[in-house]
Amino acid sequence: MSSSSVEVEVESSNYYVNKNPQDNGDHEVHREDCEKLPSPANREYLGHFDCCEDAVEKAKQIFSQSNGCLYCSEKCHTN
Ligand SMILES: [Zn+2]
Repeated sequence: MSSSSVEVEVESSNYYVNKNPQDNGDHEVHREDCEKLPSPANREYLGHFDCCEDAVEKAKQIFSQSNGCLYCSEKCHTN
């Protein structure tokens, strides 16, 4: 049993970008464990990154208007 109950937010994860834009034109970037992760047919694998910033940068090479998901990558989400 671990004696530590501190939840460390580990951002290192596989990231995906939604192939389908939101109403505002943003392509959302998601971690693989996000509940909002699009179905396989609707997402593009970006790679494994240590932070969502890098994942969004990668996504912008595919979709210039990319944005972090509000749920899994809130600090990379801009309005
Ligand atoms: Zn997400």
